[in-house]
Amino acid sequence: MYISIDVGGTNMRVALVDLEGEARIVRLESHPVPQDYKVGIEKLCGRIADLSAGQKIEGIGACFPGIIDKDDMVTTANNLPDWTMKPIKQFLKERFGVPVKLLHDAQGAALGEAIFGAARHTDRFVYFIWGTGIGAADIKKIDDHRYYMFSFENGHHIMDWDGKLCNCGQRGCPEAWLGGDMLKEYFGADTANVSDNDPRWDFVVQKAAQTALNTLIFHPVDLFVFNGGVINHRPFLLDRMRPIMQERVQLFPMPKMVLAEKGDQAALLGCAGAFMVDLI
Ligand SMILES: [Zn+2]
Repeated sequence: MYISIDVGGTNMRVALVDLEGEARIVRLESHPVPQDYKVGIEKLCGRIADLSAGQKIEGIGACFPGIIDKDDMVTTANNLPDWTMKPIKQFLKERFGVPVKLLHDAQGAALGEAIFGAARHTDRFVYFIWGTGIGAADIKKIDDHRYYMFSFENGHHIMDWDGKLCNCGQRGCPEAWLGGDMLKEYFGADTANVSDNDPRWDFVVQKAAQTALNTLIFHPVDLFVFNGGVINHRPFLLDRMRPIMQERVQLFPMPKMVLAEKGDQAALLGCAGAFMVDLI
Protein backbone atom coordinates (compact mmCIF):
# COMPACT_ATOMS: atom_id res chain seq x y z
CA MET A 1 0.00 0.00 0.00
CA TYR A 2 1.07 3.56 -0.68
CA ILE A 3 -0.03 6.95 0.57
CA SER A 4 -0.66 9.55 -2.11
CA ILE A 5 -1.08 13.22 -1.39
CA ASP A 6 -2.31 15.85 -3.81
CA VAL A 7 -1.92 19.31 -2.32
CA GLY A 8 -3.84 21.87 -4.36
CA GLY A 9 -4.32 25.60 -3.88
CA THR A 10 -7.46 25.13 -1.78
CA ASN A 11 -7.78 21.44 -0.90
CA MET A 12 -5.43 18.62 -0.10
CA ARG A 13 -6.39 15.05 -0.90
CA VAL A 14 -4.87 12.12 0.90
CA ALA A 15 -5.37 8.58 -0.39
CA LEU A 16 -4.48 5.02 0.42
CA VAL A 17 -3.50 3.41 -2.88
CA ASP A 18 -3.17 -0.28 -3.66
CA LEU A 19 -0.86 -1.03 -6.62
CA GLU A 20 -1.33 -4.81 -6.49
CA GLY A 21 -3.15 -5.97 -9.63
CA GLU A 22 -5.35 -3.20 -10.99
CA ALA A 23 -4.12 -0.01 -9.27
CA ARG A 24 -6.90 1.51 -7.20
CA ILE A 25 -7.62 4.11 -4.59
CA VAL A 26 -8.77 2.28 -1.49
CA ARG A 27 -9.57 5.30 0.67
CA LEU A 28 -9.68 8.97 -0.15
CA GLU A 29 -10.08 12.09 1.97
CA SER A 30 -10.18 15.75 1.04
CA HIS A 31 -9.50 18.61 3.44
CA PRO A 32 -9.00 22.36 3.13
CA VAL A 33 -5.28 23.06 2.90
CA PRO A 34 -3.98 25.33 5.66
CA GLN A 35 -1.94 28.26 4.33
CA ASP A 36 0.31 27.96 7.39
CA TYR A 37 2.91 25.27 6.67
CA LYS A 38 3.35 24.06 10.26
CA VAL A 39 -0.40 23.65 10.74
CA GLY A 40 -0.68 22.03 7.31
CA ILE A 41 2.08 19.48 7.65
CA GLU A 42 0.83 18.38 11.09
CA LYS A 43 -2.69 17.99 9.74
CA LEU A 44 -1.32 16.01 6.82
CA CYS A 45 0.64 13.73 9.15
CA GLY A 46 -2.49 13.11 11.22
CA ARG A 47 -4.45 12.08 8.14
CA ILE A 48 -1.60 9.85 6.87
CA ALA A 49 -1.40 8.14 10.27
CA ASP A 50 -5.15 7.48 10.28
CA LEU A 51 -5.30 6.24 6.69
CA SER A 52 -2.32 3.96 7.08
CA ALA A 53 -3.38 2.44 10.42
CA GLY A 54 -3.11 -1.34 10.22
CA GLN A 55 -1.50 -1.20 6.72
CA LYS A 56 2.05 -1.75 5.64
CA ILE A 57 2.97 1.47 3.82
CA GLU A 58 5.77 1.18 1.29
CA GLY A 59 6.07 4.81 0.33
CA ILE A 60 4.51 8.25 0.37
CA GLY A 61 4.15 10.16 -2.90
CA ALA A 62 3.08 13.80 -2.77
CA CYS A 63 2.42 16.34 -5.46
CA PHE A 64 2.29 20.12 -5.16
CA PRO A 65 1.14 22.95 -7.41
CA GLY A 66 4.59 24.44 -7.63
CA ILE A 67 8.12 24.07 -8.86
CA ILE A 68 10.23 21.42 -7.16
CA ASP A 69 13.99 21.81 -7.45
CA LYS A 70 16.68 19.14 -7.73
CA ASP A 71 16.98 18.99 -3.92
CA ASP A 72 13.26 18.17 -3.65
CA MET A 73 12.31 21.58 -2.28
CA VAL A 74 9.08 23.22 -3.36
CA THR A 75 10.58 26.51 -4.50
CA THR A 76 7.54 28.26 -5.96
CA ALA A 77 3.87 27.73 -5.15
CA ASN A 78 1.84 30.82 -5.93
CA ASN A 79 -1.20 29.69 -3.96
CA LEU A 80 0.75 28.32 -0.98
CA PRO A 81 3.64 30.70 -0.32
CA ASP A 82 4.27 29.44 3.24
CA TRP A 83 4.85 25.87 1.95
CA THR A 84 7.85 26.86 -0.14
CA MET A 85 11.43 26.09 0.89
CA LYS A 86 10.30 23.74 3.66
CA PRO A 87 11.85 20.27 4.28
CA ILE A 88 8.60 18.46 3.43
CA LYS A 89 10.27 15.34 2.08
CA GLN A 90 12.67 14.94 4.98
CA PHE A 91 9.92 15.62 7.51
CA LEU A 92 7.58 12.94 6.14
CA LYS A 93 10.44 10.48 5.72
CA GLU A 94 11.54 10.84 9.34
CA ARG A 95 8.01 10.81 10.73
CA PHE A 96 6.86 7.66 8.91
CA GLY A 97 10.14 5.87 8.18
CA VAL A 98 9.30 5.18 4.52
CA PRO A 99 10.64 6.51 1.20
CA VAL A 100 9.02 9.77 0.10
CA LYS A 101 8.76 11.19 -3.42
CA LEU A 102 7.69 14.73 -4.30
CA LEU A 103 6.29 15.66 -7.68
CA HIS A 104 4.89 18.68 -9.44
CA ASP A 105 1.11 18.13 -9.64
CA ALA A 106 1.12 17.97 -13.44
CA GLN A 107 3.94 15.41 -13.31
CA GLY A 108 1.94 13.28 -10.89
CA ALA A 109 -1.15 13.28 -13.09
CA ALA A 110 0.86 12.70 -16.26
CA LEU A 111 2.50 9.72 -14.60
CA GLY A 112 -0.90 8.37 -13.54
CA GLU A 113 -2.04 8.42 -17.17
CA ALA A 114 1.30 7.09 -18.43
CA ILE A 115 1.28 4.05 -16.16
CA PHE A 116 -2.40 3.34 -15.55
CA GLY A 117 -4.47 5.48 -17.90
CA ALA A 118 -4.96 6.51 -21.50
CA ALA A 119 -1.23 6.33 -22.35
CA ARG A 120 -0.42 3.01 -20.71
CA HIS A 121 0.21 1.35 -24.10
CA THR A 122 2.08 4.30 -25.62
CA ASP A 123 5.83 4.94 -25.61
CA ARG A 124 5.59 8.68 -25.95
CA PHE A 125 2.81 11.20 -25.49
CA VAL A 126 1.99 14.76 -24.51
CA TYR A 127 -0.07 15.27 -21.38
CA PHE A 128 -2.11 18.45 -21.85
CA ILE A 129 -3.77 20.21 -18.92
CA TRP A 130 -6.70 22.47 -19.63
CA GLY A 131 -8.23 23.68 -16.39
CA THR A 132 -7.75 26.87 -14.40
CA GLY A 133 -4.31 26.90 -15.97
CA ILE A 134 -2.83 25.38 -19.09
CA GLY A 135 0.33 23.32 -19.09
CA ALA A 136 1.84 20.19 -20.55
CA ALA A 137 4.42 17.47 -20.21
CA ASP A 138 6.16 15.34 -22.83
CA ILE A 139 6.61 11.79 -21.54
CA LYS A 140 8.86 9.23 -23.14
CA LYS A 141 9.07 5.71 -21.78
CA ILE A 142 12.67 4.59 -22.25
CA ASP A 143 11.86 1.17 -20.82
CA ASP A 144 9.43 -0.25 -18.25
CA HIS A 145 11.19 1.43 -15.36
CA ARG A 146 12.63 4.63 -16.75
CA TYR A 147 10.48 7.49 -17.95
CA TYR A 148 11.79 10.75 -19.28
CA MET A 149 9.41 13.57 -18.43
CA PHE A 150 9.74 17.13 -19.57
CA SER A 151 7.15 19.68 -18.37
CA PHE A 152 6.67 22.82 -20.38
CA GLU A 153 4.57 25.97 -20.31
CA ASN A 154 2.53 25.74 -23.47
CA GLY A 155 -0.09 27.87 -21.72
CA HIS A 156 2.35 30.77 -21.81
CA HIS A 157 3.82 30.69 -25.26
CA ILE A 158 3.07 33.89 -27.12
CA MET A 159 0.49 33.40 -29.86
CA ASP A 160 -0.25 37.08 -30.43
CA TRP A 161 2.38 39.75 -29.71
CA ASP A 162 -0.15 42.43 -28.79
CA GLY A 163 -2.71 39.98 -27.46
CA LYS A 164 -4.63 39.85 -24.23
CA LEU A 165 -2.70 40.41 -21.00
CA CYS A 166 -2.06 37.15 -19.15
CA ASN A 167 -1.74 36.59 -15.39
CA CYS A 168 1.92 35.75 -15.99
CA GLY A 169 2.62 39.30 -17.20
CA GLN A 170 3.06 38.48 -20.89
CA ARG A 171 0.60 39.23 -23.65
CA GLY A 172 -1.08 36.82 -26.02
CA CYS A 173 -0.64 33.59 -24.03
CA PRO A 174 -3.14 30.73 -24.53
CA GLU A 175 -3.99 30.84 -20.84
CA ALA A 176 -5.11 34.47 -21.16
CA TRP A 177 -8.01 33.21 -23.32
CA LEU A 178 -8.46 29.59 -22.30
CA GLY A 179 -7.79 29.40 -18.56
CA GLY A 180 -10.88 28.48 -16.52
CA ASP A 181 -11.22 31.91 -14.90
CA MET A 182 -10.58 33.66 -18.20
CA LEU A 183 -13.40 31.69 -19.83
CA LYS A 184 -15.71 32.74 -17.04
CA GLU A 185 -14.75 36.34 -17.74
CA TYR A 186 -15.19 35.86 -21.50
CA PHE A 187 -18.67 34.38 -21.16
CA GLY A 188 -19.63 36.64 -18.27
CA ALA A 189 -20.94 33.52 -16.55
CA ASP A 190 -19.85 30.21 -15.14
CA THR A 191 -19.11 28.03 -18.16
CA ALA A 192 -21.32 25.32 -16.62
CA ASN A 193 -24.23 27.60 -17.57
CA VAL A 194 -23.14 28.15 -21.18
CA SER A 195 -24.75 25.91 -23.79
CA ASP A 196 -22.54 23.71 -26.00
CA ASN A 197 -24.22 25.40 -28.96
CA ASP A 198 -23.28 28.92 -27.94
CA PRO A 199 -21.44 30.45 -30.96
CA ARG A 200 -18.94 32.09 -28.63
CA TRP A 201 -17.28 28.67 -28.22
CA ASP A 202 -15.98 29.04 -31.82
CA PHE A 203 -13.33 31.52 -30.70
CA VAL A 204 -12.36 29.27 -27.78
CA VAL A 205 -12.06 26.23 -30.04
CA GLN A 206 -9.89 28.16 -32.50
CA LYS A 207 -7.50 29.31 -29.76
CA ALA A 208 -7.36 25.82 -28.27
CA ALA A 209 -6.69 24.25 -31.69
CA GLN A 210 -3.92 26.78 -32.30
CA THR A 211 -2.40 26.00 -28.89
CA ALA A 212 -2.53 22.25 -29.50
CA LEU A 213 -1.07 22.66 -32.98
CA ASN A 214 1.81 24.79 -31.73
CA THR A 215 2.40 22.20 -29.01
CA LEU A 216 2.56 19.51 -31.70
CA ILE A 217 5.10 21.50 -33.72
CA PHE A 218 7.51 21.45 -30.78
CA HIS A 219 6.50 18.00 -29.51
CA PRO A 220 5.55 15.83 -32.48
CA VAL A 221 3.92 12.86 -30.79
CA ASP A 222 1.14 10.48 -31.81
CA LEU A 223 -1.01 10.96 -28.71
CA PHE A 224 -2.26 13.92 -26.69
CA VAL A 225 -3.98 13.09 -23.40
CA PHE A 226 -6.13 15.96 -22.11
CA ASN A 227 -7.07 16.45 -18.48
CA GLY A 228 -8.36 19.31 -16.36
CA GLY A 229 -11.59 20.93 -15.26
CA VAL A 230 -12.40 22.80 -18.48
CA ILE A 231 -11.91 19.99 -20.97
CA ASN A 232 -13.30 17.24 -18.73
CA HIS A 233 -16.54 19.16 -18.35
CA ARG A 234 -16.68 20.14 -22.04
CA PRO A 235 -15.29 17.20 -24.05
CA PHE A 236 -17.09 18.46 -27.18
CA LEU A 237 -14.30 21.05 -27.41
CA LEU A 238 -11.88 18.27 -28.29
CA ASP A 239 -14.19 17.02 -31.05
CA ARG A 240 -14.38 20.50 -32.50
CA MET A 241 -10.63 21.13 -32.30
CA ARG A 242 -9.72 18.08 -34.41
CA PRO A 243 -11.06 19.20 -37.83
CA ILE A 244 -9.59 22.68 -37.45
CA MET A 245 -6.19 21.23 -36.66
CA GLN A 246 -6.48 18.64 -39.40
CA GLU A 247 -7.08 21.40 -41.92
CA ARG A 248 -4.05 23.43 -40.86
CA VAL A 249 -1.43 20.89 -39.86
CA GLN A 250 1.21 20.27 -42.51
CA LEU A 251 4.45 19.23 -40.89
CA PHE A 252 3.34 16.26 -38.83
CA PRO A 253 0.55 13.69 -38.77
CA MET A 254 -2.44 14.66 -36.64
CA PRO A 255 -2.02 13.11 -33.20
CA LYS A 256 -4.78 11.11 -31.59
CA MET A 257 -6.40 13.36 -28.96
CA VAL A 258 -8.22 11.76 -26.03
CA LEU A 259 -9.41 12.61 -22.53
CA ALA A 260 -7.49 11.25 -19.55
CA GLU A 261 -8.93 7.95 -18.35
CA LYS A 262 -8.23 8.55 -14.69
CA GLY A 263 -9.51 12.15 -14.55
CA ASP A 264 -8.98 13.73 -11.16
CA GLN A 265 -7.61 10.47 -9.74
CA ALA A 266 -4.64 10.57 -12.14
CA ALA A 267 -2.42 12.60 -9.80
CA LEU A 268 -3.10 10.33 -6.82
CA LEU A 269 -2.41 7.18 -8.83
CA GLY A 270 0.69 8.81 -10.30
CA CYS A 271 2.08 9.71 -6.86
CA ALA A 272 1.98 6.02 -5.93
CA GLY A 273 3.10 4.98 -9.41
CA ALA A 274 6.21 7.14 -8.92
CA PHE A 275 7.56 4.23 -6.87
CA MET A 276 7.33 1.91 -9.89
CA VAL A 277 9.41 4.00 -12.28
CA ASP A 278 12.37 6.34 -12.21
CA LEU A 279 11.78 9.77 -13.67
CA ILE A 280 14.83 10.99 -15.49
ZN1 LIG B 1 0.95 33.77 -19.73
